[in-house]
Amino acid sequence: MDTPSDVKRSTLAAQALGGSDPATRAVVPPLVASAPYERAPDGTYPGGHTYTRDQNPTYDRCEALLARLEDGREALLFGSGMAAATTVFETLAPGDHVVAPAEMYWTIRSWLQHAASRGRFELDLVPNGDHDALRRALRPGATRIVWVETPSNPTCVITDIAATAEITHAAGARVVVDSTVATPVLCRPLRLGADLVMHSATKQLNGHSDVLAGALVTARDDEPWARIRHERANRGAVLGPFEAWLLLRGMRTLFLRVARSAENAQQVAEALARHPDVDAVLYPGLPDHPGHAIAGRQMQGGFGPIVSFRVGTADRARRVAGALRLFRNATSLGGVESLVEHRAPVEGPGTPVPADLLRLSVGIEDAGDLIADLEQALATAAR
Ligand code: PLP
Repeated sequence: MDTPSDVKRSTLAAQALGGSDPATRAVVPPLVASAPYERAPDGTYPGGHTYTRDQNPTYDRCEALLARLEDGREALLFGSGMAAATTVFETLAPGDHVVAPAEMYWTIRSWLQHAASRGRFELDLVPNGDHDALRRALRPGATRIVWVETPSNPTCVITDIAATAEITHAAGARVVVDSTVATPVLCRPLRLGADLVMHSATKQLNGHSDVLAGALVTARDDEPWARIRHERANRGAVLGPFEAWLLLRGMRTLFLRVARSAENAQQVAEALARHPDVDAVLYPGLPDHPGHAIAGRQMQGGFGPIVSFRVGTADRARRVAGALRLFRNATSLGGVESLVEHRAPVEGPGTPVPADLLRLSVGIEDAGDLIADLEQALATAAR
């Protein structure tokens, strides 16, 4: 594999790290489906692979690219974002303590609450980005992980990664950032002091809404990383080769898609903020967003594809979502096509998400078309 070190990350992504297949000179990285790998007569594995639950050449290239994009030491692919996230927590010992944000991707939060209620580990949820609350929650010697999600899904709260890392490291714990919404194009948490980055690669990393995948990227090849590698291999939480190949194909256009979606999202957020029939717009790219200055410092080239907005009542939110024609009324985010979702009913009782909030995942279509669609839906679903 040819990996020139002096080119931009967008070049590395476009060329899937460059080079061609040494056996065939194929320019497109091959899909290696084999589960077993043959030993040499002396019993060694000259190809460096043993069994696909542990390693696979198609994962290798995708992981190497992701590690380069995040400025990390190593990356591992998982069967989903949830498999990646839960693997981090499964490496903890009973009695270890976790601090997580109150506003975060709800399935991770509910999994954490469930695991903590069964005594798997101790858990405190603190308001996102509240440094005093974080200092109060930290238990030096017991807290192992401080989880960060920025921007948070779907409320778009921003957390200062560098400040969180400083506070967390002083207490001897590690910072893990769910950077799904930002992607390595817009934010590099490891550069800001995070120890581990997690992605739902189902979203913008793949970008075509046709792969379920997750990833972890580490700053260091240390003992916690060895435990994560062991957990993935032994619990079999890996991605299949075909999905890894599709993911690598999607990542080749990552920089184009992320830039275009962020540009469109900014225009959509500004149009909604001007609309008389919208009560609030939650988008870190808007100057009056409480996290705008921090996001401006730690994100480069845009603020991501999620724009959330409030329309007064749950009933109206449902009607606006139902009246949209271009935004498809479906869950998930980060695809080339724009989606809308009325979030609170999905998350259920106890969610911090307001009942009248609609989450948009802004794709790469024409921004004018998307804004016109929102305007017609807001007019159709009048108060
Ligand atoms: N983290 C965030 C921020 C997400 O939005 C999601 C999924 O929506 C996940 C993690 C979980 O990823 P997956 O659906 O790939 O398991």
